[in-house]
Amino acid sequence: MSDHKFSTNALHAGHDTTLNGGTRAVPIYQSTAYVFNNSDHAANLFGLAEFGNIYTRINNPTNDILEQRLAAIEGGVAALVTASGTAAIATTLMVLLKSGDHIVASNSLYGGTYNLLSVTLPRLGITTTFVDPSDPSNFGKAVKENTRAIFVESLGNPKLDVLDLKAISSEAKSAKIPFLVDNTVATPALLNPIEHGANIVIHSLTKYINGNGTALGGAIIDAGNFDWANGKFPEFTEPSAGYHGLVYHEAVGPIAFIIKARIEGLRDFGAALSPFNAFQIIQGLETLEIRVKKHSENALALAKWLETRSEVTWVNYPGLASSRFKAQSDAYLPKGQSGIVTFGVKGGFESAKKIADNTKLFSLLANIGDSKSLIIHPASTTHQQLDDAAQESTGVTKDLIRLSVGLEDLEDLKSDLENAFATIDKSVLA
Ligand SMILES: *Cc1c(COP(=O)(O)O)cnc(C)c1O
Repeated sequence: MSDHKFSTNALHAGHDTTLNGGTRAVPIYQSTAYVFNNSDHAANLFGLAEFGNIYTRINNPTNDILEQRLAAIEGGVAALVTASGTAAIATTLMVLLKSGDHIVASNSLYGGTYNLLSVTLPRLGITTTFVDPSDPSNFGKAVKENTRAIFVESLGNPKLDVLDLKAISSEAKSAKIPFLVDNTVATPALLNPIEHGANIVIHSLTKYINGNGTALGGAIIDAGNFDWANGKFPEFTEPSAGYHGLVYHEAVGPIAFIIKARIEGLRDFGAALSPFNAFQIIQGLETLEIRVKKHSENALALAKWLETRSEVTWVNYPGLASSRFKAQSDAYLPKGQSGIVTFGVKGGFESAKKIADNTKLFSLLANIGDSKSLIIHPASTTHQQLDDAAQESTGVTKDLIRLSVGLEDLEDLKSDLENAFATIDKSVLA
């Protein structure tokens, strides 16, 4: 990998202009398939004797540039892009696990991921134990004979708990299982989980990396630091029936996982990213670092302002002095704590709903990481299908409002919220 710094890699990694007609921008290779030189060439590509493009479900030159760029900025050895963040998570787990396997996961997860692990995967015989991530030893305690992965979010959405990745990674290491980290909210501009022991990093590119709410995408980044030959993953050390007897660990060593995810995961589950979306996401990635810095500054300032408001009962932002995650935040997120702020209001569910319904700049919708500010009341929307206990464990209380603070002028954001606060039923404010 290149030894350039973050912002340089975000602009240049993976794009050799001499191979792409001198194009300064990354071109969109909108082609479904690729012409083989002859049948022997095709046989070599299918047999992995030579790397090259076959079919866009498996690989594409535009996607390849995005993949190299993401691997560079996360400090991984290789990456794979997918149709969405959810596809990245599902593809990772389907490549890694089989019926009868078990996952230990943080109980503070994105709602969609929580449902995948708690409802859908059990139908396929893959079960998950959810643990309170604030005590890293909880992960080790929940590991069983058949546990094959630990899954967390570096900065939980929407609980905003900053995890002690280093400590959790040692639990995974002693159990000889890979440590999977969804780094969507923190972004590689603020945190690189691989530096703290992650083996596989996952992103929803839909959020901050694309950054303007115009394209879905996901990514899997392989740190290349997991020993797949440790006895727990025979699919990597024995001939693969799904790939004419290929032994991944022998054939491609440290990139065994990401290669298997590509040639079996994308081939069989088909969650490929459209090259048009890859192009769009590349435009966003160019400015990730400066955007996330500004998102973080706006979010911290707004969180401090919310703390001064009489309508507000509590504010959660990892950068606040009052945050119970402040020490961890100083250790893991010194450059900024990203753009998500949650807070509670007097009057609970009804007041929170009212505020979400009455902002004008903050758009009421289910997304984060847009340059435009967003608001949602999870208990009445994204998390309404969860029962009370599940709402509680995912950190979603009835009075919780989640803001995804955008790049607008801070004063405009404050007055927008102030106007929405004015619509709360006055009787609950006394
Ligand atoms: C949005 C999100 C996902 C899912 O990504 P999609 O691109 O929407 O499929 C996964 N994890 C986290 C933390 C997210 O915020």
